[in-house]
Amino acid sequence: MKSSTLIYDLDLPDLTDLLLSWGEPAYRAKQIWQGLYRHFWYSPDHFTSLPKSLRENLAETFSLQKHESVSFSILEPSMILDSSDGETRKTLFTLPDNRPIETVLMRYSNRRTLCISTQSGCAMGCVFCATGQMGFGRHLSSGEIVEQVLYYARMLATQGEVVTNVVVMGMGEPFHNFEAALAAIDRLSDPEGMNLGARRFTISTVGLVPAIRKFAVRKSQINLAVSLHAANDELRSSMLPINKKYPLTELMEACREYIALTHRRISFEWALIHGINDTPEQARQLANLLQILKQSGTLLAHVNAIPLNPTSRYKQKATTHQRAIAFRSELEKYGIPCTIRLRRGIDIQAGCGQLAGITLNPHQ
Ligand code: SF4
Repeated sequence: MKSSTLIYDLDLPDLTDLLLSWGEPAYRAKQIWQGLYRHFWYSPDHFTSLPKSLRENLAETFSLQKHESVSFSILEPSMILDSSDGETRKTLFTLPDNRPIETVLMRYSNRRTLCISTQSGCAMGCVFCATGQMGFGRHLSSGEIVEQVLYYARMLATQGEVVTNVVVMGMGEPFHNFEAALAAIDRLSDPEGMNLGARRFTISTVGLVPAIRKFAVRKSQINLAVSLHAANDELRSSMLPINKKYPLTELMEACREYIALTHRRISFEWALIHGINDTPEQARQLANLLQILKQSGTLLAHVNAIPLNPTSRYKQKATTHQRAIAFRSELEKYGIPCTIRLRRGIDIQAGCGQLAGITLNPHQ
């Protein structure tokens, strides 16, 4: 059987149209939808309540032959790694065209958070990021993004658990693949299906200004995170090449417009790098920069500071705990809320900026 369309690329109205074109009643589309997104079935063989002819049509149109059975899934896990504390799992998938992507599950006491990829590789070239260091492969389709969540939802269901949150911060710049990333979130939020509310998603950007504006207009409940890492153009451009195209004044203006339109808070991500961007002076510059976001005396902004995760091609070191605390204290003097995030899954290279599409010796 040959591979054709990916069923996870379809929305419910697309699926309904298709079923109608096959002469099937519309309610069958909803049945299939609920099978895919509530029961996480991934083979036509699982849909035993459907007529045989419909299952055959589904198999013919959407299935791949996999390990003696037919499957809708195109994600092939080629390696699974668990962190030594058992709280983080990273799966390396190989797509049918041999492109790699990685997806990470983080277990917290009351949350099961996934970090998903929107591209294989990344075109943004942030110097401290392993994905940026590997270059751009290709955009993922919305269905390929959706499937990462379904894969883990299926695994968690066997343990009586559910995906509670999704951060769209894995491989790739989500706003560089804007339509597919947002379509995937819409599909996973669909109340007729998985019903994972938009507020449970966080989408991150390195600062693609036109896309921030486009996102703002949607007035979505999806949380927005902006990777900032530096509060002056010289330093930021040396770390994030995109800053040369969209410097800080433009980026902050787009953030200000986003907040004015949505009244939603933005999280600013800051990888604390020893002696580079972890000084009190940098904290003061950051506090100053964020003042533009104040509206009617309220600052809808939060800083997430995380000590830099190591990657093979970036030699700078993470900040120390003491310096991280001092950085946060300086921000707090100016009324800027800041959380110091714990690093997760470093031993399996599953932390922020560590997804390289290849799995190195975890102890290297
Ligand atoms: S930090 Fe994000 S945007 Fe920058 S290179 Fe890595 S994946 Fe791309």
